[in-house]
Amino acid sequence: MRVIVAGAGISGLAAARGLIAAGHEVVVLEQAPGLRLGGGAITLWCNGTAILGDVGVDLEGTGQRLTAMRLRTAGGHPVLELDLEELAERFGSAARVLPRGSLITLLNDGLPEGTVRFGARVTEVLAGRDGVRVRTRTGEEFAGDFLVGADGVRSRVRALVLGDAPAAPTGAAIWQGLTPAPFDLGSVTTLMVGRQGDFGYASAGDGLMQWFFDVPWSPGTPREDKPLEMLRRRFGGWASPVEQVLDSLRDGDAGLFPHTRHKVPCRWGHNRCVLLGDAAHGMPPVGAQGTNQALEDVATLVDCLATVPDPAAVVGVYSARRRRRAALASTVASNTLAVSGPRTLMQSERLMRMNGAAPPRLATRGFGRLLSALSDRI
Ligand SMILES: Cc1cc2nc3c(=O)[nH]c(=O)nc-3n(C[C@H](O)[C@H](O)[C@H](O)COP(=O)(O)OP(=O)(O)OC[C@H]3O[C@@H](n4cnc5c(N)ncnc54)[C@H](O)[C@@H]3O)c2cc1C
Repeated sequence: MRVIVAGAGISGLAAARGLIAAGHEVVVLEQAPGLRLGGGAITLWCNGTAILGDVGVDLEGTGQRLTAMRLRTAGGHPVLELDLEELAERFGSAARVLPRGSLITLLNDGLPEGTVRFGARVTEVLAGRDGVRVRTRTGEEFAGDFLVGADGVRSRVRALVLGDAPAAPTGAAIWQGLTPAPFDLGSVTTLMVGRQGDFGYASAGDGLMQWFFDVPWSPGTPREDKPLEMLRRRFGGWASPVEQVLDSLRDGDAGLFPHTRHKVPCRWGHNRCVLLGDAAHGMPPVGAQGTNQALEDVATLVDCLATVPDPAAVVGVYSARRRRRAALASTVASNTLAVSGPRTLMQSERLMRMNGAAPPRLATRGFGRLLSALSDRI
């Protein structure tokens, strides 16, 4: 089949890798003039790394393999410790943090020359039962048997096919960056939670540190010219290493990404056109589920195209297989942590300490169960 993919982000490139390996002819249309390598680092759980392995991406030597995840209170008190090595052994694939740009490069490097057409912004879609035609901003037309909309949270394909609005702001945003590590970060990812929001950090390999702070934000919030001053005020008094991390940064290191969320639709497309990744289920980055769910979409879509005889019937089967898990991931990402309102009471130092630390084996088993519930692969 000739498949047109809109968008050369992680979803679109991973889909291209999987579809080409399954014998399809693929063209990826990307609006930007080149690969978009920006952004911080991405956390891939065991399911995400397993699926990347299935589509031929070797992550060994890229980023940082994670051996544990720690949750602490703002005062530094331990709440939870997950043994990610135990989960790597159980699921046959390890969790990893790696720069988004490194993953985009790895995905693109395995594609045949000319697969991605740059400067090709999809503006129109004509999809019928027999095939699809896609027109770009420059008037170029592409014809194929199937269209995959992997064009992100402001998906044009979603708007055209489902008549839907882009993902909506949730009232929070993440200030984050990828900067030189000010101390040895080891192979542990750490999250600290308090009434002011949350702070996390981990090694992304090559001496780089991925760090982030989640804070309240809405489209009317004035622009922060000095984000580090604001973060120092808001997270002042938090336990080590908050101050040490902030002291290692300059204002230009901090990038703001508003949290947005789509309602996960019942049907992920129409006729021979489906949505994938953020185009289907934009969700807040809390818990790092977005990219892992995008890779789950890729694996399921490749399987549906191989097993469902009528291409126009793929959308029904694919949506049915994906929507429950994606909706669960979106709920977890949206409700686990709060940055404002009465829910932050649950994140107070006193309450979190009173609840005590969960036994590590129990916590690891619980997280493993959550990963399995979110995945068709592990
Ligand atoms: C530049 C950039 C930086 C990011 N940085 C971070 C980060 O630091 N932390 C984090 O957690 N997440 C980040 N993300 C989001 C993260 O990559 C995604 O949430 C996740 O990987 C799922 O990706 P996706 O491929 O579905 O969507 P995206 O990563 O958004 O990719 C969508 C792609 O589609 C292209 N596109 C959009 N509209 C059209 C159109 N009409 N026609 C053709 N192409 C189109 C876009 O240019 C983009 O390349 C970033 C995304 C981008 C694009």
